[in-house]
Amino acid sequence: MKPSYAYFEGQIVPIEDAKISIMTHALHYGTGAFGGVRAYWNDEADNLYIFRPLDHFKRVLNSGKLLLMDLPYTPESMLKILLDLLRKEEYHEDVYIRPLIYKSTKGIGVRLHDLECDFTMFAIPFGSYIPNEENSRVTFSSWRRLDDNMIPARGKITGAYANSALSKTDAMLAGFDEALVLNQNGHISEGSAENFFMVRDGVVVTPPVTSNILEGITRRSIIQLLREEMNLDVEVREIDRTEVFIADEAFLCGTGVQVVAITEVDHRPVGAGVMGPIVSRLRELYFDLVRGKIARYRDWNMPVYGADQ
Ligand code: PMP
Repeated sequence: MKPSYAYFEGQIVPIEDAKISIMTHALHYGTGAFGGVRAYWNDEADNLYIFRPLDHFKRVLNSGKLLLMDLPYTPESMLKILLDLLRKEEYHEDVYIRPLIYKSTKGIGVRLHDLECDFTMFAIPFGSYIPNEENSRVTFSSWRRLDDNMIPARGKITGAYANSALSKTDAMLAGFDEALVLNQNGHISEGSAENFFMVRDGVVVTPPVTSNILEGITRRSIIQLLREEMNLDVEVREIDRTEVFIADEAFLCGTGVQVVAITEVDHRPVGAGVMGPIVSRLRELYFDLVRGKIARYRDWNMPVYGADQ
């Protein structure tokens, strides 16, 4: 049974020993923040590659800033711990990595100040997040995305994921694969745990970081791939709900979901109702990219096993 280990309270310990008290502040008040990172096994290279780990850890620490956390870690020191953890697990398969920072004080009282905080992390074998990767059906949620002045969406704050869970569960229980969520202004924000893109007349469009989205690392990587590798125009602008009804293609992206084609939205086919050429090509490129098969982007792939061990 994996995982066998976790980084917990300053050291790598057997997973059974990584336990927190029921009095932990973050458990009650949602005062934690997490990351989601993937590492991909590459058979030919006989190596495991972590995708953009320093960017992920930087975002985790930025979420900590929002929550007034003063953690004795840097992205580099978190990466070192992750390498130790993955090597100890001896993973030779695709894994999902979950770093978590949290207010660790045991006690009662809603606040952010005068609390201790800590960092924990584990890695677990992981496959698809949404089963229908080439033909997902989505619905617009009746829930609204949290506003920056409520709980900032640019932080991956644990308490904010109750909002994502509300929209995801409503969508799934209604028979859809995923929810699209509007912000307070009625524009598209993102999926419950993914960034959103659509294609109209050959131009790829995605909402800006001011639309209450998580500033996705996959989103950023994909904007670059679309521009540099597929020579496409990418517009970053607000998107109306009904634009999706008349879009030619649409997709969700994120570390967990990777790149998933949306082929139906609220019972209307997107484009021809099947995965289109841009999403199809992008998916191929993306999986080559994350597995470390595109030399130009090798900087984004951190090898786990190798000379520096
Ligand atoms: N939006 C939300 C709400 C998410 O939880 C995620 C997953 N981390 C994303 C977008 C995608 O972000 P990333 O590409 O950095 O994983």
